Amino acid sequence: MLEVTGLTVAYGAHVAVDNVDLDAARGEVVCVLGPSGCGKSTLLRAIAGLEPPVAGRIALGGQDVTAARPDERHVGLMFQDHALFPHRSVGENVAFGPRMRGAAAADIERAVRDSLALVDLEGFADRPVAEISGGEQQRVALARAIAPRPRLLMLDEPLGSLDRALRDRLLTELPRLFAAVGTTVLYVTHDQEEALSLADRVAVMRDGRFAQIGAPEAVWRAPADGFVARFLGHEPILAATVRGGVAATALADVPVEAADGEALLVVLPGAVSLAADAGDPAGPKVSGEVTARRFAGDHLALVVATDAGVELTVGVWRAPAPEPGERVDLAIDPAEVTVLPAGDRAS
Ligand code: ADP
Ligand code: MG
Repeated sequence: MLEVTGLTVAYGAHVAVDNVDLDAARGEVVCVLGPSGCGKSTLLRAIAGLEPPVAGRIALGGQDVTAARPDERHVGLMFQDHALFPHRSVGENVAFGPRMRGAAAADIERAVRDSLALVDLEGFADRPVAEISGGEQQRVALARAIAPRPRLLMLDEPLGSLDRALRDRLLTELPRLFAAVGTTVLYVTHDQEEALSLADRVAVMRDGRFAQIGAPEAVWRAPADGFVARFLGHEPILAATVRGGVAATALADVPVEAADGEALLVVLPGAVSLAADAGDPAGPKVSGEVTARRFAGDHLALVVATDAGVELTVGVWRAPAPEPGERVDLAIDPAEVTVLPAGDRAS
């Protein structure tokens, strides 16, 4: 459905999107994940035809649209700031796309009704946009992007400005919405939880390029480099020397399947447990002192200063959990660590 090759977009001398390749199959949800300023919005704007590329090719449905006008591309873009028409009704906002496409009045009406139903805003068509809540405006913006039934739906940080509860609710509703619309989705976010939970494939972006593209679980368990691992929130990431299937680190010697040499050892969130709870006796054990406890709803997160000088976080699901100041023994599960090539630890 979407095929982007060698796309480069620049603002003056500043290259915001740098020789990017990206594709998306029909009905696929691809999430572009990256920090602020890495070029996510620029990429979407270029695909929508709002930013002329310096180089590269954009094809939609097998058709080269690199030079096509935005309205000729039949893509939908929900902007980061919604950009609703503030003085118009909800229905007039949602009708905008189908009307621009020259749809008949009855079809426009049906598109508005169906799109509002998809975002659970039935009966809102006559309400002024200025008089509904921020969360409802977000849904109107979604409905407006969906209404012309674009072949590619692009969403730029669609949950960015919502409070936690509303964001979590939309996060569980969006897959149903995407499935109901059946369109290809390109979803941009700086939030790893959003990207990992919504995407068929995640593309991690850094400085205008893709650091890694893959299935969410694959990217999560096997980040391509230290940047991706850090951006996913994995910690600690330790300098390691691998020799004969053992990674020597400041924390412990950990059995790994990796070639000899300098490397980074990424400790995935599931790797550390209280030794008393651990099933696997084969992994290394470390000791330390609990320095903080954080209540996380269904479990407690304990921060442990290990005797090796490395801080670890361990989840505890049973009571009573150790208190700050208590000594604890921890087990490291070698199946939950990942070895990366050494190189960009500081970046
Ligand atoms: P993101 O959406 O990932 O936060 P953007 O695509 O908005 O990133 O921006 C990428 C880079 O391009 C940033 O360094 C930003 O400052 C710059 N940039 C974005 N829009 C413009 C513009 N209209 N003029 C000049 N520079 C811009
Ligand atoms: Mg942006």
